[in-house]
Amino acid sequence: MSITAEQKGSEQKAAAYTSKARWTPERPRVLVTCCSDGRLQEAIDEFLENYLNICDYDRFYAPGGPGALTPGRYEFLRATQYRDDLAFLIRAHKVEELLLIFHGPAPDGPDEAVCAYYKRILPHTSAGQVRAQQAQDLADLRVYLDDLRLTVRTRAYRAEVLADKRVQFVLMT
Ligand SMILES: [Zn+2]
Repeated sequence: MSITAEQKGSEQKAAAYTSKARWTPERPRVLVTCCSDGRLQEAIDEFLENYLNICDYDRFYAPGGPGALTPGRYEFLRATQYRDDLAFLIRAHKVEELLLIFHGPAPDGPDEAVCAYYKRILPHTSAGQVRAQQAQDLADLRVYLDDLRLTVRTRAYRAEVLADKRVQFVLMT
């Protein structure tokens, strides 16, 4: 019986793996909230490290990223739970800075770059309308965070996929 390269590879793999990296007891003071969409991962890592000098950070990844934190739509309970989880993390991990990253296409970017979460909650909506909704969601989230009286700095960016597939991070005010 012949053994395929794949079977051979899996046989050689140990059942456990030990990292070279060591766990550190100190917590990062930055929490990054962004969408689960893995197509953006490399660009986001590059932006965090090269532009913001953020290498260690807690993660709050969910479909829609910061957009998942806006109740008032038909997924009210989910958003409320996410808000509670976010507030819990900020308090329990003593987060000092919250970084919110929305995403979608730039005005001349590809339509497939629209966030799948926004496509689900707002079907038949244009990329421009999604962009406007994200700005509104950020405003709502800021009101919520202000009401909690947390001592956390908040910065928000929109990761916009350009026509040439590079990603531009635009500060949202
Ligand atoms: Zn998304």
